[in-house]
Amino acid sequence: MRRYLVAGNWKMNGSRQANSALLEKTAAGLARCRDVEVVVCPPAVYLDSVGQALDGTPIRLGAQNLCDRDTPGAFTGEIHGAMLKELDCEYVIVGHSERRALYGETDDVVAQKFQTAQTLDLVPILCVGETLEQRESGQTEAVLKRQLEVVLEQSGVVSLSRAVLAYEPVWAIGTGRTATPQQAQEAHAFLRSQIALRDARIAAALRILYGGSVNSGNAQALFGGPDVDGGLIGGASLKADEFLAICVAAQAQVTKS
Ligand code: PEP
Repeated sequence: MRRYLVAGNWKMNGSRQANSALLEKTAAGLARCRDVEVVVCPPAVYLDSVGQALDGTPIRLGAQNLCDRDTPGAFTGEIHGAMLKELDCEYVIVGHSERRALYGETDDVVAQKFQTAQTLDLVPILCVGETLEQRESGQTEAVLKRQLEVVLEQSGVVSLSRAVLAYEPVWAIGTGRTATPQQAQEAHAFLRSQIALRDARIAAALRILYGGSVNSGNAQALFGGPDVDGGLIGGASLKADEFLAICVAAQAQVTKS
């Protein structure tokens, strides 16, 4: 059975003071969500202090980005995956649509980052998703297939046994506009079916998260889809009550089943 995962992507938000308050409140409320894996992905400069604050809590640490190179060296401004490991990061987000759209990360760069993460023993959370224009012109499946294929071509299907996939429709990220539970389930089922063409066992075990304006009001319905295994949460992960309510919604699915 796949364990639900709720990961908070703090993006470029936080301060030492705000982080401590957020983590303290979140950790205190998580006793209600024992079957859900919870991850937070703060900005890189806070990974060390957040990692220390997470000691003794069930919350795990993830990074938002890593350098695509697997050896350190003259890459000003970049962060090597081994440095993330040293700070006890277990996960790293790759291919987030903000990095694709605002920082020019191509499918090939994303595939390279995915591979580098795995080489350095980090679990990549690979984000894929279509723009509104692509959805409205009927290209959703073709886009998801292409974004996935590039990674599969480079790293092979077995790599997905040590990865998490996140379906994040670009039009739903930070917009307050969410995919309907049916749209999310359809996209997740499609992604899983594409992987099953290569390896049914790996496809069945892979966790696929939904991301895009998830909040306390819509999480339960979104997580109800049989192929939805939790969420990648942006804005709502910055508010302890909201984030906890989303974790509780994931726990409710476990209890239901
Ligand atoms: C995200 O950044 O991955 C995300 C899903 O953001 P939001 O929840 O704010 O839409």
